[in-house]
Amino acid sequence: MSPTATAQRAKTKQTAAPPPGGYTGKLLRVNLSRGKVWTEAWSPEAMRDQLGGVGLGAHILWKEVPAKAHWDHPENRLVLATGPLAGLPVWGTGGLTVVTRGAMTDGATSTNANGFFGAALKYSGYDSIIIQGQAKAWSYLYINDDVVEVRDAAHLLGKDTWETQQALEREHGLTGHRMSVYCVGVAGEKCVRFAAIHGDYGHVASKNGCGAVMGKKRLKAVCIVRGTGALSAHDPRGLVQAADDIAHDLKTDPATSTLYNFGTLPGVTNLYKLGVLPIKNYTTNLSTVDMAEWEPAKLRAGFDHRGHQCNACGMHHCHIQVIGRGQFQGERVDEPEYEGWSGAGWTIGLTDKEAVSWLNTRVDRACVDINEFGWVCGWVMECMEKGYLTEKQVGFRLGFGDVNGAYRLLQMITNREGFGDLLAEGVKRASEKVGGEAAKCAVYTKKGASPRGHDHRGRWDEMLDTCTSSNGTMESANPTFQTEIGLPGRITPFDGEQVAKLTGGILGRRHFEDSLGGCSFTFRTRIENLARALSAATGWNYTLQDALRFGRRTAAILRAFNLRCGIGTDVEYPSVRYGSQPVDGPAKEHNVMDQWEHMLDVWYETVGYDRKTGKPKKETLRALGLDWLAKELWR
Ligand code: SF4
Repeated sequence: MSPTATAQRAKTKQTAAPPPGGYTGKLLRVNLSRGKVWTEAWSPEAMRDQLGGVGLGAHILWKEVPAKAHWDHPENRLVLATGPLAGLPVWGTGGLTVVTRGAMTDGATSTNANGFFGAALKYSGYDSIIIQGQAKAWSYLYINDDVVEVRDAAHLLGKDTWETQQALEREHGLTGHRMSVYCVGVAGEKCVRFAAIHGDYGHVASKNGCGAVMGKKRLKAVCIVRGTGALSAHDPRGLVQAADDIAHDLKTDPATSTLYNFGTLPGVTNLYKLGVLPIKNYTTNLSTVDMAEWEPAKLRAGFDHRGHQCNACGMHHCHIQVIGRGQFQGERVDEPEYEGWSGAGWTIGLTDKEAVSWLNTRVDRACVDINEFGWVCGWVMECMEKGYLTEKQVGFRLGFGDVNGAYRLLQMITNREGFGDLLAEGVKRASEKVGGEAAKCAVYTKKGASPRGHDHRGRWDEMLDTCTSSNGTMESANPTFQTEIGLPGRITPFDGEQVAKLTGGILGRRHFEDSLGGCSFTFRTRIENLARALSAATGWNYTLQDALRFGRRTAAILRAFNLRCGIGTDVEYPSVRYGSQPVDGPAKEHNVMDQWEHMLDVWYETVGYDRKTGKPKKETLRALGLDWLAKELWR
């Protein structure tokens, strides 16, 4: 056991009444500045109102993070939240939601990761962890049921995310799934703005620089011994029935069964056909390699696979691989998600599959967001090929498809060395600093973050979502069963009005999912099934309408928080390249900016927000039961 920076047991206060099923009734609080840990009771009324995950986190941000507490301020909160289904026998319910004021936009962040953390936390007796302050020396948080300690992490410094987890497993003599670790690698230590929080060998809460916030707090890791507490559901039979129906949807619906079999791998060829696969930093939408080689089964050929499922998950999704050939033969990697094939591959013009797989894992181990890395690296590659950046500026020469150059750039970013120090600020800030023609080549939103690994010029709903969202990434998310909530099953993808109505119509669905404590892949089912699972867990009569209302309420609170932070309507735009017209490929004829203002008008009308100020209208807030927010926002 390492010497402790501060060691303390969490003082436990019991709630007056037993909590609803699925909850422990306790929030764990940690003040790193003072080395204090304690628990506070969470009332059943607050649970129903906030659920968990992003719902709880949005309330914490609004109530506890003032406008002056920027992302790097000790008073910023880092919320590691689960939800009422975490730890129960529904597929993929080990989930973790990270909510904070993030480094990329300096606004609200909610980002999910899977694995085992959420379940381990629940079995330890806590619904969520709320971290504030800044440790005087590098620390890690150790949780073993009611023993909660802030410990010295000096021996972990300089280790990447896998090494950190291995070191903590050795230190505590626990392997397998007996301990869950979420941590930052060197990029988090150096406060790279797009640093992520990584855990359980291959799961990443990646968006909006949440790893930079953790690094700023000098918190290297949170490790939880799988707890010994019991967790019960109000109606176990009803829960199992709902879980079966969810699994049935995943296995049988054509849109989800590919996910069941191959996870996100089918995205590569499917999105290519639509012009949505981002190739070489948006300079083309045409591949020069045989796309048949990128079908899901081919992406798994040639690798030695081991299943790597998360808590209670039956999906054939996550895998650990050993690379079977090429420069990186013998290396153990985490099979890339679609976003990995995109960010460590197509975006930077790299189509050697083994090299992409290797680079993707190096990015994860550094704890860098894979999409942001792809956009910044692709931008440098394009600018060097066009002469907008010189070898002298960057420090060496690299162009599209150069895996060794990309890795060198990753190391420079991770360690904030040379030109990497500027790149560590993200592609928006870096390109604005460089200026000139280079500035026009960068893909980002005016809020400061970059999109996920798509070419949204062929998918306008996600571009609109990314630019209007309040959490540093997409906020709405296309539901698989959108007719369930009265939306058309299919729209004309380049009709701005239809796109905006759809995007506004599903605002908040993702917040509902991300507040339950599970995985967004295993929750690609009817909302009604999720509401039934929630009802069975808690004993509440929770309906589809309750779920939609909850999602919109959470979206409104996040928006109010951002407005208070000064993030308004003037930044709801794509950068020049992000909003440009494709030069080739399936979306070549379509220019999103021709319809952008109209799309914003329709979106604002649909969600009931004021077009000029960006505020949710008073009547919208009142209809959502947010009178208290209406008073504060419109006074
Ligand atoms: S679908 Fe994949 S990421 Fe989600 S819980 Fe299952 S194994 Fe984990």
